[in-house]
Amino acid sequence: MKVAENTVVVIDYTLTDNDGQVIDTSEGAGPLAYLHGAGNIIAGLEEALLGKQAGDDVKASIEPAKAYGERHEDMKQDVPRDLFAGVDNIEVGMQFQSETDQGPVMVTVVALEDDMVTVDGNHPLAGVHLNFDVTIREVREPSAEELEHGHVHGEGGHHH
Ligand code: ZN
Repeated sequence: MKVAENTVVVIDYTLTDNDGQVIDTSEGAGPLAYLHGAGNIIAGLEEALLGKQAGDDVKASIEPAKAYGERHEDMKQDVPRDLFAGVDNIEVGMQFQSETDQGPVMVTVVALEDDMVTVDGNHPLAGVHLNFDVTIREVREPSAEELEHGHVHGEGGHHH
């Protein structure tokens, strides 16, 4: 069976940036199961896996536009530390949900200075070129429930 719209695909993967740094891997965590065409994974990786089958090794080099988008420097801003009054220790790397005109956005603290905190609303992988090394373990039909939920249940998928 080949990877197509509405098939369940089970993959082992390692994701690296252009410097060869490992960003994410299924090694140790177990394979990832996703529903193809449901937006479970980034568009660029779905494109690369389309038409492949179990046993195939796929290497995909994906530009930011088909991954987590380009970085927007204007999504970085300095806010007064007072706004974090309820937080005991603000540290670089912490993430907060922030209300904006476009709805809630996850922001990451990227710098701290006296009474100012610099937060970045870009996805941590925005602007990053992603290199996937994937092995397809299995391609199968989804259950009716998986189709309805738009994701895979069980090992490598959702548990609920
Ligand atoms: Zn579900």
